[in-house]
Amino acid sequence: MNSRHLSTINPFLKISRYIIIPALIILSLLSVTLTGHAKSSKHELNRIKDITYNSKGNKEKITLFLQKETSYRECFLDHNPKQKLPYRLYLDLKDTTLSSKVNKPDTPSSSNIKRIRVAQKDSTTTRVVLDIKNKIFQEDYKITRSRNRKAIIIEIKNKKAKQTDKSKSVKEVVLPEKYTKKKTGSAPGLCTVVIDPGHGGKDPGATGYQKTREKDVCLSLGLKLKKLINSKKGYKAILTRNSDIFLSLDDRGAIANENNADIFISLHANSHENTKITGIETYYLSFASDEDARKVAARENFTTPSKISDLEMIFFDLLQNNKINQSSILAGHIHNAMVSKISDKYQEKIRNLGIKHAPMRVLINTEMPCILIETAFISNPKEAKQLKSKAFQDTLSVSIFNGIENFRSARKTAFNKTAP
Ligand SMILES: [Zn+2]
Repeated sequence: MNSRHLSTINPFLKISRYIIIPALIILSLLSVTLTGHAKSSKHELNRIKDITYNSKGNKEKITLFLQKETSYRECFLDHNPKQKLPYRLYLDLKDTTLSSKVNKPDTPSSSNIKRIRVAQKDSTTTRVVLDIKNKIFQEDYKITRSRNRKAIIIEIKNKKAKQTDKSKSVKEVVLPEKYTKKKTGSAPGLCTVVIDPGHGGKDPGATGYQKTREKDVCLSLGLKLKKLINSKKGYKAILTRNSDIFLSLDDRGAIANENNADIFISLHANSHENTKITGIETYYLSFASDEDARKVAARENFTTPSKISDLEMIFFDLLQNNKINQSSILAGHIHNAMVSKISDKYQEKIRNLGIKHAPMRVLINTEMPCILIETAFISNPKEAKQLKSKAFQDTLSVSIFNGIENFRSARKTAFNKTAP
């Protein structure tokens, strides 16, 4: 395998995370090559007109017909059996927007191409992904242009007959350094927690019982949690907002990154059309764990459940990183601390909806362990009252802090165990 086709960090592709959507950054960090020399107009975006499939002998051909010549970036990703991800070859087409009329061809069952996926990655980039069944090497695929340079041709050898070839190996995908290396910046030993009270300003979030607004309860809980954390030795808390202002979802993560936070916690309140529904749930970033998680993510992302699957595609190439593992552990510690403390204090069973995962937009560009808590249902009369009460907010704050402490001590133990 030529190193040109492996995922390494390209220093020339570092683009400010505050300008372009976070997914693009990950992409630029993972990407390998920049190919093509198109002089595309900045004003007029290119479109994919058609995608075709055909095969001849042991060669399979996917052709992307474009309106005009476009530069693209290609990347090959290793499979990940744990996450059930196949080998993937993707192309990011620059200055291209997805036409809704594009047909994705079906591939026959004998094909080495399992599936073709197409999605708009950001306002000017379209990603085409080929999910590949069997392991392939550099010599097994080839990307060329048509004579008029408007079409991009991906040719892949169908290796069905050669599955048992073990003599060659594909190098593992190299993770971007920022996910494998501990950030320095804040004082040694100091734990910086960025607390993000959900919504705010023109965005009230969910409106519940007696017009209780999500943005208000999140802010007062956030202020309380900040005060508590700042009173503890070795901790520093920062709020993404400390008043009723609007902040974009991407800006919230950016604040955590700028402050070299160790932990990011986004605070929210749940809502359901059935006002009888109650409970607490904690999210970390990944695919939607179920239909309900998909609905919650859609609401928090200002989108619809059907669009969530497009957003999920962005995570295909992200899932292997350490941030997600650490976030799931953090979610476990904080969620369990909240459930046990609230049950103790209120001597009644709270509905434990568990730890879930979903493509929560606010968690995408944060570079540290990050979670989103749906503290209670604002749509339920009893929980809406609780959410507004000082006593309940105190209990939540204390338990969230206990969870952070548990997370940190478990981590220390893990580090000590591996130390020589
Ligand atoms: Zn919310």
